Amino acid sequence: SRGFLSVRDLYVHFATEDGTVKAVDGLSFDLARGSTLGIVGESGSGKSVTNLAVLGLHNPRNTTIRGEILLDGQELTGASERRLSQLRGKKMAMIFQDSLAALSPYYTVGRQIAEPYMKHMGASRKEARERAVQMLGKVGIPQPKLRVDDYPHQFSGGMRQRAMIAMALVCDPELIIADEPTTALDVTVQAQILDLLKDLQHETGSAIIIITHDLGVVAKTADDVMVMYAGRCVERGTVREIMRTPRHPYSWGLLGSIPRLDSPVDLPLVPIPGTPPSLLAPPPGCPFHPRCAFPDQVAGGACRTERPVIPEDEPHGAACHLTPQQKSTIFAEQIRPR
Ligand code: SF4
Ligand code: MG
Repeated sequence: SRGFLSVRDLYVHFATEDGTVKAVDGLSFDLARGSTLGIVGESGSGKSVTNLAVLGLHNPRNTTIRGEILLDGQELTGASERRLSQLRGKKMAMIFQDSLAALSPYYTVGRQIAEPYMKHMGASRKEARERAVQMLGKVGIPQPKLRVDDYPHQFSGGMRQRAMIAMALVCDPELIIADEPTTALDVTVQAQILDLLKDLQHETGSAIIIITHDLGVVAKTADDVMVMYAGRCVERGTVREIMRTPRHPYSWGLLGSIPRLDSPVDLPLVPIPGTPPSLLAPPPGCPFHPRCAFPDQVAGGACRTERPVIPEDEPHGAACHLTPQQKSTIFAEQIRPR
C-alpha cells in the first residue's frame, strides 16, 4: 500500500560541465502519517537531494527529475512552483541545521513565526501574533509573551533552533523534513529538541523525515530507517532491525560496533575506508563493491556486473548479492564481536 508520502523510482540528475551527476538513482520509499523515517548515509549519498526534490526546492534549470512523488495522493513532481510554494508553507515544512541561516536577523522572532500563519492560514496580524506566542510556548521558550519581540541574536543557539521549529510548525504541517536538525547543538540541547519533535508529532500526527549521520538521533527518533549509498537505498527496515541485525556490508561499516537502541545521542557514523563513488561514473554492478570486503564470496563476480536490488516484498531488505545465510553468518561471526 502507498504511504502518506510515497516515492517511486525517483531519479534526480544534475547536468554539469563534466557530465550527468546521478545524485538520486532509482529510489522508492513510503512514509505513513504519525511515523518517522530516518535517512542515514555519508555526505553525497543523496539524502538531502531526495528531500529537496520532495519539497520542490531543486534548481529546475540544471536538474532532471523522473519518477513519482505522491503526497497524500497528490503528484508533486509535475506541480507548479506556485502550488509547491503553497504546499511548503502549509502541508510540508523543513527544519534546517543552521537556524542563523533560516531566520532573518532583521525581523523579530515573533514576526517571522507569524508571517507564514497570515500568508497560508489567512489569519489577521493580531491572531498571528497570538499564534506566535502560543508556538514559542509550545517549543519551550520561557516567558513567550516577553520573548516574542526579541530578534534572533537575542536567543541562544538552542532557543533559536526551537524558534525555527516554531516557525516551521506554525501551520501544523503534515510532513516535516528535518535535515541534520541538531548537529550544531550540544548533546543536552540535542536531546531536548528531539524530544520536542516527538511530542509535537504525538500531538499532530505528522510524518517526519530525519536526515542525519548520527545513529543516536536515529535510535532516539526513527521508526523506520533507510540507508543510502550512491543515490540509492541499500538497506531499509525498522530501527530495531537496522540497529540490531543490519544486513548490508555498507551498514555494517557505518554501524561499527552496533550501537544499542538506548544509546545516548551523539553517536557519529563510523568512517569507513575508501571514498564514496563518483556520481558522474558510478561503479558498475554494486556501487559499493570497490569498498566492500565480501565481493569474492559472491559467485560469478556478480558484485562487479549486476546491480543488486531490494526485493519488493522484503520489509527488512538489503541490496546485496550475498545470500541471506551468508549475511547472517558473516554478521554473527565477523561483525558483531567487534
Ligand atoms: Fe558487497 Fe557484493 Fe553485497 Fe555489494 S553486492 S555489498 S559488493 S557483497
Ligand atoms: Mg546533507
